[in-house]
Amino acid sequence: MQVRLQIRRSDPATGETRLQLYQLDHVRPAATLLDCLEEIKEEQDGTLAFRRSCREGICGSCAVRIDGRTALACRTSVAELLAGGRIPLITPIGNLPLIRDLVVEMEPMWQKMRSVQPFLSPTSDSPGEGRETVVSPALLEAVHKEALCINCGACISECDALTVSPEFLGPHALSKAWRLVGDPREPATGRRLQELSREHGIWECTRCYLCNERCPKGVDPRDAIAKLGAEAFAAGVTRDRGARHARWFVTSARTTGWLRESELVVKTLGVAVSVTKIPLALRLFRRGKAPLPLPRHKAKGLEPARALQRIVAGQDRRGARGIVQGERVLARIELVRVPEPPEPEAEDF
Ligand code: SF4
Ligand code: SF4
Repeated sequence: MQVRLQIRRSDPATGETRLQLYQLDHVRPAATLLDCLEEIKEEQDGTLAFRRSCREGICGSCAVRIDGRTALACRTSVAELLAGGRIPLITPIGNLPLIRDLVVEMEPMWQKMRSVQPFLSPTSDSPGEGRETVVSPALLEAVHKEALCINCGACISECDALTVSPEFLGPHALSKAWRLVGDPREPATGRRLQELSREHGIWECTRCYLCNERCPKGVDPRDAIAKLGAEAFAAGVTRDRGARHARWFVTSARTTGWLRESELVVKTLGVAVSVTKIPLALRLFRRGKAPLPLPRHKAKGLEPARALQRIVAGQDRRGARGIVQGERVLARIELVRVPEPPEPEAEDF
């Protein structure tokens, strides 16, 4: 099989960046992209820089972007990449500083991971020298997915919130954080939730779900972030603007079936800051880009949305237990009819 690859070559020392075309003429059909990169390096161009170690999807070293999508080179069939006669474009992963060619600096990722204290807090309940705390597999199921992370950085590469706000903790560090908050042995969950709910924490995620989509190990970092948010709510840690923003979505949907956007600003930013936004709001109203807050619009056919809310409330799944794991699981939710309570009044938090 003949394989042609375009690889972005970069040398930050000289500032030079170019696309280089490589051709391999005798590639076996079962070869991976990593096999091809290694053959190029061994047979054609020893200056090509990329990372790899285990070749088995375990070490997380060989993440690259392939036609813009981040994946592990060792888990990518090159035959599938060539479908339709395409010449795949291979570039380094995003949101981390470039070192050279396909190699990026991982230190910012490690720094953020260290900042969430990726180990259990010390506790006075230690079982003592030579003994261990035994936790049942059922209890550890809550953090099973997050423990599968191989630190490849694919989720970081895909995260647009990180591109816009480099200080955002990001999907990798936050899934590590849930690994500890959700661990039944961790004694300091309250402190952790307070810290994670600050600026650049849980609430900076824009819920695009790309990290779930691209994580090669099924960690589903967005689900971990949702679980942290739910636990923060359950613990009453809701002062952050992001938390207030989320809470208004729920109130607004429950009372009118509609996102009351003009009120969202006040509920999220508070009255004092919102006053400074009045000139912008007036411009938006004049151009028909924002609805007037009164009279409140109430959606027709509101009952199914309220029925869903009653179902969830009836299950009394507080905190992380109420988080649906990944969008595919939505298909498994059964709509159960529950008695209809009196209609709630529109209310403010
Ligand atoms: S869901 Fe959140 S953390 Fe994941 S990629 Fe999107 S913005 Fe980033
Ligand atoms: S969460 Fe998934 S994509 Fe992110 S570093 Fe871990 S294994 Fe890689």
